[in-house]
Amino acid sequence: MSLHQEKVDRFSLPDKHGHFGPYGGIFVPETLMAPLYDLTEAYLDAREDAAFQSELSTQLKEFAGRPTELHLAERLTQRLGGAKVYLKREDTLHTGAHKINNVLGQVLLALRMGKKRVIAETGAGQHGIATAAACARFGLECVIYMGAEDMRRQSLNVYRMRLCGAEVRGVEAGQKTLKEAINEAMRDWVTNVRSTYYVLGSALGSHPYPMMVRDFHQVIGREVREQILKKEGRLPDEMVACVGGGSNAIGFFFEFLEDLDVQLVGIEAGGRGISCGNHAARFEGGKLGILQGCKTWILQDSEGQIELTHSVSAGLDYAAIGPEHAFYRDRGRIQFDFATDEEALEGFEALSQSEGIIPALESSHAIAYAIKRAPEMKSNQILCVNVSGRGDKDMQEAGRLRGDLPD
Ligand SMILES: *Cc1c(COP(=O)(O)O)cnc(C)c1O
Repeated sequence: MSLHQEKVDRFSLPDKHGHFGPYGGIFVPETLMAPLYDLTEAYLDAREDAAFQSELSTQLKEFAGRPTELHLAERLTQRLGGAKVYLKREDTLHTGAHKINNVLGQVLLALRMGKKRVIAETGAGQHGIATAAACARFGLECVIYMGAEDMRRQSLNVYRMRLCGAEVRGVEAGQKTLKEAINEAMRDWVTNVRSTYYVLGSALGSHPYPMMVRDFHQVIGREVREQILKKEGRLPDEMVACVGGGSNAIGFFFEFLEDLDVQLVGIEAGGRGISCGNHAARFEGGKLGILQGCKTWILQDSEGQIELTHSVSAGLDYAAIGPEHAFYRDRGRIQFDFATDEEALEGFEALSQSEGIIPALESSHAIAYAIKRAPEMKSNQILCVNVSGRGDKDMQEAGRLRGDLPD
């Protein structure tokens, strides 16, 4: 454990302008300032409203399938020969990943604000599918922005969104991936802000999104605390989650930030190795900068141009990390490491073979860490892994990389 850990009151963050220490904030064009203030006000009001929270709990239970299980990975634990490995099963949620927690919260907020139209960005399509499903559930018009290159790579997910009634708009600018899709969604929002709610998909972007998205995912860690106390009578020694923007990780960790005996580890995408253009590990090759509304650690060159990123998992393939993670890293409260594409694929196979659970390639990064870490721990210690999503969406890609499916 880091020697210079400082205790921080987690509920004091962010401040009212969205700062987590030097990170976060509101860095948007003038025209978005008023809508973001309105959104912040509406959200803070909803957060205090027992009826809103109760409706959200009902939707999380009935539509999404919460609570998710926390269970001992018995055969993986035996195979690794160290700490007991527990799995938090966010992969069992409706639409296949943790993303639905945040989407249901934001869609209920859109309804409360009287918005009839919802927009969202998506990379691999997981956030788009969750949003399209929730909009179908509540009868809202839904437009999803997606890079044209991502649409090609994830054509099945495009069909899923369309099946749920969403309009998927391809974005042809730049690299034709997630970053460009976010730009286009922000442009739409500026133009249609009266009628439209923008559902952002990770703990990123301008205030209030990092706070709001974190809050909607806190349920993950709250369940873990209750479940592990029931099963083991104590808290875990260590918890690990993968970090793209950081939403599944902050939701998993938040409940434990003040329990300094619980070590928290975030795993970034090491891709083909840490060299420019080959990875998405912001704390390895990045520096302080501003991207899409938010001040945080970013992969950029000396002229401030955003670097190309790479990861086998589209969900971790983004140049910026959520500001709250940067804050807790500075304080030694959350530690970061990375797993390469190859290590993630090994994690993907190991969990499938020893537990019958096929994880998303994103989640496989956290499993790769557990495979290295558990054998270094004692058999009476506990390591909890957040399985953020299931691997169905990754079958084609993993099969191709392993030579088990044709190109
Ligand atoms: C989107 C996604 C991630 C990455 O996003 P975070 O905001 O960092 O959680 C991780 N795992 C899965 C399964 C995803 O779909």
